[in-house]
Amino acid sequence: MKKFFSAAIVLLLAVATLSAQDGMNCFAVLAGREATVDGSVLLAHNEDDSGEQMLNIYNVPRNETAGTNKYLWIEFPGMAVSDGYLNEYGVAVVSDACNSREDREDFTDDGVLYEVRTLAAQKARSARHAVELIGALVQERGYRGSGRTYVVADPNEGWVCAVVKGRHWVAQRIPDDMVMTIPNYYCINEVNLADTANFMGSPDIITYAVERGWYNPETDGKFIFKKVYSRPDTYSYDRNYIRHMSAMNYLTKKDYTTNPDTYPFAVKANRKVGLEDMMEILRSHGDNVEQKVVTKHDNDHPVCICTDVTVNATIFQLRNYLPVEIGALMWVTGTSPCVEAFIPWYSGMTESPAGFQRFASADEALEKHFSDSKQMKENYPDGIAWKFVDRWHWILEDYFGRSEGVQRVNKKFQKKLFKGQAGFEESIREMKGEELQKALNEYTGDIYKEYFHLFEQ
Ligand SMILES: [Zn+2]
Repeated sequence: MKKFFSAAIVLLLAVATLSAQDGMNCFAVLAGREATVDGSVLLAHNEDDSGEQMLNIYNVPRNETAGTNKYLWIEFPGMAVSDGYLNEYGVAVVSDACNSREDREDFTDDGVLYEVRTLAAQKARSARHAVELIGALVQERGYRGSGRTYVVADPNEGWVCAVVKGRHWVAQRIPDDMVMTIPNYYCINEVNLADTANFMGSPDIITYAVERGWYNPETDGKFIFKKVYSRPDTYSYDRNYIRHMSAMNYLTKKDYTTNPDTYPFAVKANRKVGLEDMMEILRSHGDNVEQKVVTKHDNDHPVCICTDVTVNATIFQLRNYLPVEIGALMWVTGTSPCVEAFIPWYSGMTESPAGFQRFASADEALEKHFSDSKQMKENYPDGIAWKFVDRWHWILEDYFGRSEGVQRVNKKFQKKLFKGQAGFEESIREMKGEELQKALNEYTGDIYKEYFHLFEQ
């Protein structure tokens, strides 16, 4: 591979025809702890957004006065629905846009959007608690977006929480031995709010649909939430079901049809799954499905779950048999998962490596999240984000020519990280307080140093 940083980079990044605003990007995978090789709950997510995006990762300290948790915050300045979180209780939150058919507005004080997951990260002590908080907030203030599925996990269990514009929502717990994959439509089938161990939601979720004429119990059969509440063009959109098929086919080794009506809420994989499987799914270019995702772009990067505009991929590995500071961590990329290694960030960390926070204080970042979000590269040239972005643009100029060498190097590096994980965790197992924090901070910092060194080879 030629010297990357010496190369003059002139690039017109292909503008994908679809953006997060269209609600047709992002993808999530959620695996219960009996479905995984190491007994972890795994939550994997591709964040897809077009335009200039600056990845920041903040270590937000606990605030005793405000009663807020310590948490890791993956921030994209200016974006209302793109950030990811992992808090000190091992609660992880991400989301996928899921357009609903709701066309009425029902808000108090303009409703909520960005606030939803911030609240979950700041206050939740478990995934279930996060869902309760999200549901209560949506009911109280009204959801401003068309619709969305929040995917929430902790070291014990995973939930999906589908919110609808206005004050309706429904959430379902994923069975421990199953894996769920979520493109950009609702995935909840039947709803049974009487089963409080596995469901939560607005009490009128069915009667409201009847009232609106979206569902007729006499002619439509069982109430299937995803069919009734999804915006029809989203539900039938090939880009959605093709990505869904690719993930389910990978997990089950079956061939799913192109009809989302037939898709289960979650699938049983044909083996226990691990981090590598999550990575494979997030990297999918659709090789295991006949149908192709068609995206208008001027490069040769194949697109499916992995897209030109995947600005970050994250896998949360959440284990309940270790102290949470060590047991809960996230593996993160800076752009597209197909050309990057995933780097570990432990929930017990307290400092991000240099360049990951455009402001020293997380409070300032939160305050300026929307107000200072233009021309990021010009205004914040020292951000580490540009190392990832520039390299990705360089690869896209000749994807087939340049990706392979990068992937080869990453594969080796990733293997080394996996191999080192158990030993590192063993070495810090008895540490507490500042000693542990320091060890975790240094671990991630050192890995990035090594990783960026690889960029220049
Ligand atoms: Zn790719």
